[in-house]
Amino acid sequence: MAPAFDISLDSLRARSVAAPNAAERGASDASAPTGGTFFLETFGCQMNDHDSEKVAGVLLSRGYQQVDSPDSASLILYNTCSIREKAAQKVFSRLGEYRTRQRDGQIIGVLGCLAQQEGEEIFERAPWVSLVCGSASYRKLPELLAELEAGNRRVTGLDTDTDETFETEITRRDNPWRAYLTIIEGCDKSCAYCVVPYTRGPERSRASASILSEVRQLADLGYSEVQLLGQTVNSYADPSKSRVRFSDLLLTVADVPGIRRVRFTTSHPRDFTPDIVTAIESQPKLCNHVHLPVQSGSDRVLAAMQRSYSRDEYLDKVAVIRGAKRPISITTDIIVGFPGETESEFEQTLGLLDAVRYEGVFSFKYSPRPNTASLAMSETVSEEEKGRRLAALQERQRRIQAEHNATFLGESFELMVSGKSRRENQWSGHTTCNRVLNFASQSRELLGTYVQVRVTNVGPSSLVGEHVA
Ligand code: SAM
Ligand code: SF4
Repeated sequence: MAPAFDISLDSLRARSVAAPNAAERGASDASAPTGGTFFLETFGCQMNDHDSEKVAGVLLSRGYQQVDSPDSASLILYNTCSIREKAAQKVFSRLGEYRTRQRDGQIIGVLGCLAQQEGEEIFERAPWVSLVCGSASYRKLPELLAELEAGNRRVTGLDTDTDETFETEITRRDNPWRAYLTIIEGCDKSCAYCVVPYTRGPERSRASASILSEVRQLADLGYSEVQLLGQTVNSYADPSKSRVRFSDLLLTVADVPGIRRVRFTTSHPRDFTPDIVTAIESQPKLCNHVHLPVQSGSDRVLAAMQRSYSRDEYLDKVAVIRGAKRPISITTDIIVGFPGETESEFEQTLGLLDAVRYEGVFSFKYSPRPNTASLAMSETVSEEEKGRRLAALQERQRRIQAEHNATFLGESFELMVSGKSRRENQWSGHTTCNRVLNFASQSRELLGTYVQVRVTNVGPSSLVGEHVA
């Protein structure tokens, strides 16, 4: 079994940025520091993780203190996901656990995609919630909290059409070495199954100069790896006069002194152009990994999903990546059991796995969601059959990954060490291809450093190695 790695909260906090003084906060400060405490739990994707870092920054800069347990918090916040029904159910069940806390004076707030999707309905389903706020309104959180403190029972921040999402005075990053940075918010694609365009609003890109200035600050703080984020990160369209292309932005970020690795996720196949691969080839700091969700291997299903590319067009993009001068790993997302998906269409998805030989696959059973086009399509694949297809897909991928992994035995990789096991002398880190390697080393402190590790043992889903001095 893979060892459990963990990073203690204290070590993560070591790099927290100091809170600005009152003058720096400026006259527009709607709420003076309250001395309150907050507990923040996050469900969902990396963008949610990063949003939570911004929320924590906003609250810390207003004098709140972050605590590890809801018991000691005056404010309990859930940053939520609504991408699949299960994720939404999980949030409501967690909210249920906090039913009695409002009576004890604790404020319960729901943030993120479920907040945006359900809006004031959340107050109906969970009347003990006082605050509902979507991702585009996080900068308004201090004002919303001030309203609650002034006696308002329920407050909401549910705008989506704003670009105020990018800049926060302080972002309290959870990881002291790898920094997330959102460069494009929202989504203008209209995939039939997906709530994101509804919950996160239209696409808004952040000005290239603002991105670069934050990357420089991050490098000064000692971050060596940055991960540029967006639901469709490569649809980035610089709103400033310089109109920097996405691939040029990648190169400019990589040029910032102190930055050793640059990642980006998630790429939409339609906007995945060859210049991105050329950029990766020309600059080793751009990591050898592209996450390129395909969703299905069947042209008919892709059209029904409104994915705006065909199987062949997708495979052409893959061919460009596989033809790069250095090996670039490709991972993907796949949905099984979309309405109308036949057995032979599912087989085409299995065939696509063989054709691409992905380094990793995230696979999901189709889940009908509110405010999506596919909600009106009748479901033709039973839950049981979705489960069978998911298991078959995962088994096929497991075999492919085991074959990939077998080729790594004896190979050495550079890792950025990001985890330390409770077991002595055991560490973990990521390769440039984003593979996780667990390894042994007698060194006393390796977190955040780059080391060479030789693979000594391979399994279908894990790689084990030893530190090469
Ligand atoms: N923006 C990315 C893209 O274009 O692929 C991914 C966004 S979404 C947060 C991550 C993944 O969740 C999607 O790629 C898709 O595979 C899956 N997903 C989204 N909606 C879903 C639904 N209704 N049912 C099942 N899986 C879903
Ligand atoms: Fe959702 Fe499609 Fe946009 Fe990705 S591209 S966020 S799957 S609508």
